[in-house]
Amino acid sequence: MAEIVIEEVRSNLFRAEIPLPRNPLKATNSYIIKDGRRNLVIDTGMNREECKTALLAAFDQLGIDLGKTDYFVTHLHADHVGLVDELSTEGTVIFFNRPDAEILNHENLWQLVLSMAGRHGFPLEQVELAINSHPGQRYSPKNPIDFTMVSDGEIIKYGGYELQCVVTPGHTSGHTCLYEPHLKYLFSGDHILGDITPNISTWLDDEDPLGEYFKSLDKINTMDIDLILPGHRTLITDSRKRIAELKEHHRHRLDEVVEILSNNSPSSAYNVASQMTWDLVAESWDDYPLMQKWFAAGEALAHILHLEAGGKVKRTLSGSTIMFHI
Ligand SMILES: [Zn+2]
Repeated sequence: MAEIVIEEVRSNLFRAEIPLPRNPLKATNSYIIKDGRRNLVIDTGMNREECKTALLAAFDQLGIDLGKTDYFVTHLHADHVGLVDELSTEGTVIFFNRPDAEILNHENLWQLVLSMAGRHGFPLEQVELAINSHPGQRYSPKNPIDFTMVSDGEIIKYGGYELQCVVTPGHTSGHTCLYEPHLKYLFSGDHILGDITPNISTWLDDEDPLGEYFKSLDKINTMDIDLILPGHRTLITDSRKRIAELKEHHRHRLDEVVEILSNNSPSSAYNVASQMTWDLVAESWDDYPLMQKWFAAGEALAHILHLEAGGKVKRTLSGSTIMFHI
């Protein structure tokens, strides 16, 4: 069996680190709640052999019976939803949210993403390559999944814990956290992370995911939380401090985008991304790995759209490319 890091957070509640090979996130936290009746696993890692081996090793060490295990998935990304289909047995319940399920089960999703990325200035010869190496394309569940939909405020009970669904759109449009009110624990998925910043990005052009994200941070900020159990890296004890830092990070990013557009208008989202500062070890934008350019451009667009929603940025068309200006 593979070596696997398992931390006992509390009685019957474990955090297992599911490795993500060659991925800057390093690992996904899978939270395992043991229950004599049925167990609950919150997020699973990607649909790839390394993740499956690790999660099954964790189940083995903790005495988790696959036939008596249900799943809660915080959001649609492959590093969270990846294995639920693979590990399902007869009667397995997979709790999920409707907006993300619709995207995950969307028939022409990648076709849509492909055309939108091109319209936002992503070089066409690289778009297809980027999509083919995208973890969402490679490591998502392979079949449509029969989810049990949850909505805001709904409570599910496992292992003596009461888990309340808290819908927090932003990182994805249906992202959902779980809150345990007696312990004041928040399973935050990728809404709030500790030493890395959740990626807020989009390829669509008629939404404002960053605006949604700010609202969702405010929603969590009003809650009484002693411990955040995030989807990646280590647990967080000071939720208000972390929320303030995340807001500050995005405000700083918004200022940076305004400055870039002030000097280079009009620009496509891809072009803005190429001029933003990124925490990557590379000489220049041209040397960035393709996938990092992909996420950077999606993130630049989310910031531009938030400025546009606030009336600070406008758009024009240059051929079929969407251009933004101050
Ligand atoms: Zn994630």
